[in-house]
Amino acid sequence: MITVNDINFSGKRAVVRVDFNVPINARFEVTDNTRIAAAIPTIKKIISDGGSVVLMSHLGRPKKEAPGAFPVKFSLKNIVSELSGLLGIEVKFTEDCISDKAFSMSSSLEAGEVLLLENLRYYKEEEVGDKVFAQKLSAHGDVYVNDAFGTAHRAHASTAIITDFFTGAKASGLLMSSEVSSLELVLSNYKKPFTAIVGGAKVSSKISIISHLLDKIDNLIIGGGMAYTFFKAQGGQVGNSLVEDDYLDEARKILKKAVKKGVRVILPTDSICADSFSNEAAQKIFNTKDILSGWMGMDIGPKAIKSCKVCIEESQTILWNGPMGVFEMSNFAEGTKQIAYSIVTATERGAYSLVGGGDSVAAINQLRLKEHVSYVSTGGGAMLEYLEGKELPGVAALK
Ligand code: AMP
Repeated sequence: MITVNDINFSGKRAVVRVDFNVPINARFEVTDNTRIAAAIPTIKKIISDGGSVVLMSHLGRPKKEAPGAFPVKFSLKNIVSELSGLLGIEVKFTEDCISDKAFSMSSSLEAGEVLLLENLRYYKEEEVGDKVFAQKLSAHGDVYVNDAFGTAHRAHASTAIITDFFTGAKASGLLMSSEVSSLELVLSNYKKPFTAIVGGAKVSSKISIISHLLDKIDNLIIGGGMAYTFFKAQGGQVGNSLVEDDYLDEARKILKKAVKKGVRVILPTDSICADSFSNEAAQKIFNTKDILSGWMGMDIGPKAIKSCKVCIEESQTILWNGPMGVFEMSNFAEGTKQIAYSIVTATERGAYSLVGGGDSVAAINQLRLKEHVSYVSTGGGAMLEYLEGKELPGVAALK
């Protein structure tokens, strides 16, 4: 895959798909600029070469309320000042991504200038991957760059279809290429022992990932709410813990496949349980296979933490997706915290660690450990699909 570092943008106009889908508050201000900041190195590379940049993105899921009228909160105009501040230059904005005015603004951009187009999803053609719409977008520049890893799992007009209209001149942005290369490091160039730590609420959303990883990993640590489905599948009593009864068979299949592949599965032998789903609930530690009725598993227990730590700290490659417990409640955050610390220890000892998925990223950020693991993926759904072994349309289109 060609990256922007392989191209000299001098005198060129790049059409760059970014992911500026950021949270906006009631005063139409950006409340978390992480995604905007993540695209800055790519934009700077292009303008420092002497190129100009046409940025395109979606923001939220706008539904047309009246012809031509969208609520202000969906307008990318809301992010112009944040983007300009981060770039250190005044970014231009156009109120429609394919109007005559938009094309006249993009075609008159000078070297070093940046234009942001209005929300692509104001056109339903974006999400259906309409070819005519994609072709119109492509007319904004000579080179196509995709730096929106977060939407790479969608075959939308601006993420995939558009590349049909650029002959040869297409490249990944720096964020896109670091996301893909860190996922590839874990999936294809991993060092052993390789441990996957999978947590979070539900087995159903992680089945395909676990199944795909079983061909590569040595150890599988299962935590969070999904662990209780595995205990119940083996005949355990899990009280009122979260269980997906429809997935008991799938859980048994995974355990069987793990044995066949020689993968060691570590399930939390003990759990911190609560008598209600609340931070203030009464607490008691149970062996996870013997939780009494009226109690629910909220976090992995001290024995479980110990065995996870030993396994993680002996690993050379670590992939973590999903918290070990209801970490949003301070009384049930210890398991997640300790797992994060162990990953940091292993990383300091030379392991490669990749943390991804909304809630594990939130946990790492909350603990201020982002700089202490090898890579934190911001990809969300795109990352999960990559881990399932699927080819992402936005990545495939760049090849
Ligand atoms: P996911 O998006 O599937 O990674 O799930 C993340 C969510 O799982 C978080 O909101 C956690 O609070 C929740 N979770 C983790 N452990 C448990 C548990 N033992 N019981 C219920 N929910 C849990």
